[in-house]
Amino acid sequence: MYVTRFAPTPSGPLHFGSLIALTGSWLRARSRGGRFLLRIEDLDAPRCPEGMAERIISEIETLGFDHDGEILTQRYEIPFYESQIAALMGKGLAFWCSCTRKSLRHSPCKCYLRHEPPEDTSGMSVRFKPDFPLERGFDDALLGRVEFDDRYDFLTLKRADGIISYNLACVADDIRTGVTEVVRGQDLVYVTVRQMALCKALGAPCPHYLHLPLAMEDQNFKLSKQNRAAPVLELFSPAQALIEALRFLGQKTDDLQPSMEPRAILARAAARFDLLKVPKKSAVPVFSDKAGAGAKTAS
Ligand SMILES: [Zn+2]
Repeated sequence: MYVTRFAPTPSGPLHFGSLIALTGSWLRARSRGGRFLLRIEDLDAPRCPEGMAERIISEIETLGFDHDGEILTQRYEIPFYESQIAALMGKGLAFWCSCTRKSLRHSPCKCYLRHEPPEDTSGMSVRFKPDFPLERGFDDALLGRVEFDDRYDFLTLKRADGIISYNLACVADDIRTGVTEVVRGQDLVYVTVRQMALCKALGAPCPHYLHLPLAMEDQNFKLSKQNRAAPVLELFSPAQALIEALRFLGQKTDDLQPSMEPRAILARAAARFDLLKVPKKSAVPVFSDKAGAGAKTAS
């Protein structure tokens, strides 16, 4: 069965860029009769304000999206991620690293050559070193064959500050929740072959991938919470926000009205979701003329 997920980091409210990933992954799952999972990626606690996860979950509901099963919240799952890191270390596929960003600029990491584990690992990170070559690329459901020269830097599994890395948690959770296709933004294309290697090292088959176009602030910057993209529900009513997201994804919207129930808009969009109409290229969103009618005053 088809399974995908939406996995926001609760560092701020949903913005238009995260709405694109949410809408695209939900439509893909529902149009294929598959499961749609929700996961809160809040391991980097200093970046995630108190209560933001709850706010995002409530925004997702307000926008009319349903999901299957329990919501997985990563901060409650740290022993599981530690066990995955220990398993990789046991197989000789992970090592303690004392390099810093600054030291790596001058000399490459050779910490994996150490024979015995260090006595004191405080302030050290754990990195991944596969004993097999990386794939040269992958087949993306939207982009087709993606290949690029990826100079291997050992993927961090646990940061020097003790925080479990995004890559480890993401891959381990995709495996254990049975995700068959990862649907996410194109800002993560670059890390895909390394995540595939991690998946293989953890003994699981790789999922498929679909990288959606990004909503850009201008030609060079994607909208993100870091560059303070406005909360989407402060810009638009829920129905209008969905219509704008569907337009961005190239889907039919001319029979959708801001007066409709969000769930009705989504049901109609899922029944006719057409991946071939989704643009491959990231773009600056151009909101519809009708946006004014359903728009809220930005605060
Ligand atoms: Zn090192």
